[in-house]
Amino acid sequence: MSAIGFIGVGNMGGPMARNVIAKGHRVRVFDLDAAALDRAVKAGAEAAHSPVELARGVECVVTMLPAGKQVREVYLGASGLLQNTNPDIYFIDSSTIDIDSARVVGAAAAEAGFDMIDAPVSGGVAGAEAASLTFMVGGPDAAFARARPILEAMGKTIIHAGPSGSGQAAKICNNMILGVSMIAVSEAFVLAEKLGLDRAKLFEIASKSSGQCWSLTSYCPVPGLVPAAPANRGFAPGFTAAMMLKDLMLAQDAASGAGAAAALGAHAAELYEAFARSGQGAKDFSGIINMIREG
Ligand code: NAD
Repeated sequence: MSAIGFIGVGNMGGPMARNVIAKGHRVRVFDLDAAALDRAVKAGAEAAHSPVELARGVECVVTMLPAGKQVREVYLGASGLLQNTNPDIYFIDSSTIDIDSARVVGAAAAEAGFDMIDAPVSGGVAGAEAASLTFMVGGPDAAFARARPILEAMGKTIIHAGPSGSGQAAKICNNMILGVSMIAVSEAFVLAEKLGLDRAKLFEIASKSSGQCWSLTSYCPVPGLVPAAPANRGFAPGFTAAMMLKDLMLAQDAASGAGAAAALGAHAAELYEAFARSGQGAKDFSGIINMIREG
């Protein structure tokens, strides 16, 4: 049994911490939101009052925070982890953040003598609850080897992508594919409706043809075809359109920084921005089909 700390126990961090408890580890948690903290305590975690207090007596801290700003603050701030804890513990940042922040925090951790990986996830809340997340990892080999048993308590597929920041690079490339493919699948179903083609027939054919993709067969944006898809429950998330927009913007920033062409990624970002601006940001990202249907 190890003692593991979690900072950020919201929609993702909460169930991830519960799975670590279920594997027999002691878990300490910190979150700015009292309700999130309370849920984690009810699931068997111990509450801490600050990141530094949390880090005392644990061997690993997992952070699952909204964006780079919070990750920089928790690690690099004056009362942050790097300045105020001993380098015998190691860090796993599973938040989805900009590559720059991941590299800056990873380099500062290494400089201070800590093992650290960036390990963003794919699989959403359902994957977090089922301990079936995919972890894409950036960081040194030794840090990856040390963190692996804890990642295995929360996920099924764990891939070391390269040095610090590579996990975030993999995550935004993956989610750019996802954002673009969800729009493509939505456009195809709306076109089929207008052409009088039965949606179940399109699903049956495309899922066995070259249009097959995750957005179609695991997360179909029309109801009645994939039981677990948010389309069957009024597009309650799942993965919100606001988060998809965040990831597409991270991909655009990375693409312009690297001089890579990403025209469809840019257009997907514009469409998700319009969808979020129309008040639908808290809906599941597959709900974009409704905006496409309205033209
Ligand atoms: P969330 O908003 O539910 O949880 C984030 C938690 O962090 C909140 O409880 C918040 O109070 C806490 N927090 C914020 N700033 C803090 C600070 N300075 N100190 C301590 N706690 C702080 O978000 P989520 O859905 O759990 O997402 C977390 C991360 O996981 C994001 O980076 C997101 O992009 C990524 N992600 C989410 C999903 C998903 O489907 N929800 C899927 C993959 C990746």
